Amino acid sequence: MSREGPIYLDFNATTPAHPRVVEAVRAALVESFGNPNSYHARGTAARNVVEGARERVARAIGARTGEVFFTSGGTEADNWAVLGAARARAAAGRARHVVTSAIEHHAVLAACERLAHEGWEVSRVACGPDGRVDPASLDAALRPDTALCSLMAANNELGTVQPVAEAARLCRGRGVLFHTDAVQAFGKLPVDVGAWGVDLLSLSAHKVYAPKGTGALYVRRGVELAPMMLGGGQERGRRSGTENVPGIAGFGEAAHLVTEGALLDPAVLAALRDRLEEGIVERLPGCVVHGRSAPRTCNTASIGFPGLGGEVLLARLDLEGVQASLGAACASGAMLASHVLAAIGAPPEVATSSVRFSLGRETTAEEVDQAVEVVARVVLDMRRRHGLA
Ligand code: PLP
Repeated sequence: MSREGPIYLDFNATTPAHPRVVEAVRAALVESFGNPNSYHARGTAARNVVEGARERVARAIGARTGEVFFTSGGTEADNWAVLGAARARAAAGRARHVVTSAIEHHAVLAACERLAHEGWEVSRVACGPDGRVDPASLDAALRPDTALCSLMAANNELGTVQPVAEAARLCRGRGVLFHTDAVQAFGKLPVDVGAWGVDLLSLSAHKVYAPKGTGALYVRRGVELAPMMLGGGQERGRRSGTENVPGIAGFGEAAHLVTEGALLDPAVLAALRDRLEEGIVERLPGCVVHGRSAPRTCNTASIGFPGLGGEVLLARLDLEGVQASLGAACASGAMLASHVLAAIGAPPEVATSSVRFSLGRETTAEEVDQAVEVVARVVLDMRRRHGLA
């Protein structure tokens, strides 16, 4: 990474803005500062920024422009997909069941919990020890009253890529709406709503070098969704609230970079990720790389250091200038045990010792080598103190 200071290996938590994104945000803040809903030239200029960004996001995922709805981020997109689809389907018929997986982000799991409190039944399909959900087990969970199935495209903790196209095909055959959380997939692997055959797809801008607090939900034409944000009727009546024009402008620029193939190079990142994993495994026998046998996003390594406390390890790494994560960043503030590592059957002493390293477009081989040295030094020292060496 070109910047000074600690080595940042937490790109799945968030990313620094791409210079072209910074310029797009600046221009939207300063030049196109109008309210896109205003009936004057400044309003029209801001509207053009929003609609230009919508086109770019749509193109990046193979959608029609009118199928992209901007939200306040991935969390809102996930909440809206799950709750909005369930409620619309319930209003239209007898639906009272949803299917999801045990390794979803909390934004999906908590929305399903909310439905459960409202009397819905929720099936959480298990995943294999490799961090992949078997589409056959999703299929087996579908029922005549199932409204929606939600399966993430790539897991945020492990990077494991899920069989979304296959799951979507099975759901379509049973008349069940299919949602995928593509927050961690977008920018790292090809995301194409048509090829995948999904009805709903969530995106978040701050995972692709654009601002926090911006995201989008793809809603396939014709899919009914109950609105969650009520008010002025923005986003064609489906998501009220004055549009976050600077955030949306930045997101549009990032999406354009994705389409151009200019955001990051997955092959370069995968090689750096392998270098990190191999370096750590070589220096520290006994550590466990999670999900290694499954197809994974190019940038994510989740590694357990059995016998050590993950929180202390993370704090020591931070002091030594390596910034990583314990698991889902959104959960790590509360230091919750990772539901994902539990779902792949990691024993508690492995799960609680695990650290997620996630690389980004600015990560260099030198940084990776330095990080390996620091991890080895800190882990060996902790092992000695714990009498494990
Ligand atoms: N879904 C996944 C897979 C994520 O990794 C995240 C963020 O960590 C989210 C959803 C939430 O996105 P946001 O931070 O934009 O609310």
